[in-house]
Amino acid sequence: MIRTAQVLKRLGYSIREIRSILSLAKSENTKEKRLTRKLRRMLSDCASKIASEVSLLASARVKISALLEKTQNCEGCDAPDCASCGKLKELRTLGLLS
Ligand SMILES: [Zn+2]
Repeated sequence: MIRTAQVLKRLGYSIREIRSILSLAKSENTKEKRLTRKLRRMLSDCASKIASEVSLLASARVKISALLEKTQNCEGCDAPDCASCGKLKELRTLGLLS
């Protein structure tokens, strides 16, 4: 079971924000319109963050697969000027490594 707090933490929420979200969800007064509105706004923010994480990771996966394919014959490559090995420099543009 994945805990809500872990997901929120991964999305970049601070401990304080996570506590506030969880305490809102635990509140006895969720029938109150104001509280429902606040909670829904936070959930909608979470959904947007998840969508952008998913698209970042999906695009990184596509790029990594392409690099693996381009360098598939380079496993034991020791040529000093191998063009395929040179393509590994593209790792810098994945957004995962700087
Ligand atoms: Zn190579």
